[in-house]
Amino acid sequence: MDKRERLIQKLRNIAVQTPTAILEVPEKVEGFGSIKYRPEPCSVCKKCIEACEVEALDIDFTVQLPAYLDATIPEGGFRSKNRETLISLLQTLKGEGDVQAISVPTGLAGYGSVVWFTEKCIACNKCVEACPEDCLDLEKQYDLPTIIGDVVTPPSISITEWEPFIICFVCWECSHAAADLAGLMHLHYPANIRTVRVPCSGAVEPIQIMTAMENGVDGVLVTGCLLSECHYGGDDPLAGNFMQQDFVHFWQSVFEEIGLGGRLHIDFASAAMGIRFTEIVTEFVERIKKIGPSPLRGKLEVES
Ligand code: SF4
Ligand code: SF4
Repeated sequence: MDKRERLIQKLRNIAVQTPTAILEVPEKVEGFGSIKYRPEPCSVCKKCIEACEVEALDIDFTVQLPAYLDATIPEGGFRSKNRETLISLLQTLKGEGDVQAISVPTGLAGYGSVVWFTEKCIACNKCVEACPEDCLDLEKQYDLPTIIGDVVTPPSISITEWEPFIICFVCWECSHAAADLAGLMHLHYPANIRTVRVPCSGAVEPIQIMTAMENGVDGVLVTGCLLSECHYGGDDPLAGNFMQQDFVHFWQSVFEEIGLGGRLHIDFASAAMGIRFTEIVTEFVERIKKIGPSPLRGKLEVES
């Protein structure tokens, strides 16, 4: 199982409600998107399939006749004039009633449709670049409902005495030092967090966040250096903490959709900000206390 498949598997494992929304992917978040395909100008040359390194495309030997009939012929026309003439003719001849996709007779070249497997696609854009007919576009959208499918809501469990259990990723350069400073200053913050030290907040992988959730933690907190002060990029918009902020915002929208809203947060503190680190942790613990125990605890109880 490759990394993408593992991530999707974990997403399915932690989902506690069926998602309904197709999500916008922030500009800086790479690797997630949707291929939009126009079948009308497609000559089934297979160049997109050859360009795709992860086998996220295939040919389906049916003609999407409804799309032909609904097609708007571009001002400059399609590159294939034969195809354009055929579509115009079909549109002229169309009578009343439903039109279905039709199978392509064996041996008839140039007709069929490209199918796209959202769960395999890494949004590399190579198929778009390879298509000579401009049939494909990569859009910054993530089709979560297709990826997750229907979700069986786990049973709720009654917990009489509960304290949130939270994983807090701390970057080695700043937020870990801020946590240390908080200790030296004898500042008290709730003992609900377990810190995991990482070289940079940007190094926290989504799969690590999912694994924590999968194991029943009630929330995940990612902390890093102040924005514009990342030790691996400074004020570069591609610095680790800027990138992670965009990633976390994306995963927060995913968490909302799958029933884990509010359980993921990112914040920032410099090495000298022991007080701020204490506030960040305290506020997040209070938030999780209000939301309640992870619904995945019910699922884990059934599985054990
Ligand atoms: S964007 Fe990349 S991974 Fe996705 S279908 Fe196209 S070539 Fe394949
Ligand atoms: S989508 Fe483009 S590259 Fe792919 S088969 Fe159709 S015409 Fe060829």
